[in-house]
Amino acid sequence: LYVDQPLGEGQVIALSEGQANYLFAVMRLSKGAAVLLFNGEAGEWRAEVLEAGKRKGLLVCTNQTAPLQMPPDLWLLFAPIKKARTDFIVEKATELGAARIMPVQTRFTNADRIRIDKLRAHAIEAAEQCGGTFVPQVDEVTPLAKLLASWPEDRKILWCNEHLAGVAEALPKGGTLGPWAVLIGPEGGFAEAEKAQLAAMPQVVQASLGPRILRADTAVVSALTLWQAHLGD
Ligand code: SAM
Repeated sequence: LYVDQPLGEGQVIALSEGQANYLFAVMRLSKGAAVLLFNGEAGEWRAEVLEAGKRKGLLVCTNQTAPLQMPPDLWLLFAPIKKARTDFIVEKATELGAARIMPVQTRFTNADRIRIDKLRAHAIEAAEQCGGTFVPQVDEVTPLAKLLASWPEDRKILWCNEHLAGVAEALPKGGTLGPWAVLIGPEGGFAEAEKAQLAAMPQVVQASLGPRILRADTAVVSALTLWQAHLGD
């Protein structure tokens, strides 16, 4: 269970109404039962139920059961699309170990209104679901050109470009790759000015995800999977 509170030995956790309902009504836990908690920073902690009420409850942390598992230093930049598919992207990127999720506004981004709080909640749910102890940061939507203008010198960008061939040529195999980002464009493709800005950056490596043009959400899953396969993590 994710809690937005510090975790440590003897730390008392006050549950929200939703969490109390989930633990005591849905899971039918009672006083003394054990619960595993994480907050995205302190690894996994065992806690015991101190008080189980209808709409509230208290837990106390007993001991750490797993350290924080940091994912590789990989950011995902993507142009948001329709709401359900943007939700899917955040969920899958969390499962596939992206450390930071950065929605970008491009010239041809055509998306529903983005609720970052909802996307963050999806990332938390996905981390809970896959047993991770880390929750990726989800940034506010930023214009791509602005982001690229102050891009860190030492962070490479894997620009997924449907007009090329062979991701294997772009990525070194195995070992630690250092700081990277994967960039997936909008349904309408990148504007010429955006392509020129990307092509001029020494940090940018272009790669293909195969001969067929993938939907943006499929491309995210494919790119993160390929990147992970090359890193072996
Ligand atoms: N540019 C295309 C167009 O104008 O119809 C479609 C863009 S595609 C639906 C959305 C994004 O997915 C692209 O910008 C690219 O980043 C990524 N993508 C899709 N298929 C790809 C492929 N085979 N190789 C690399 N990237 C791909």
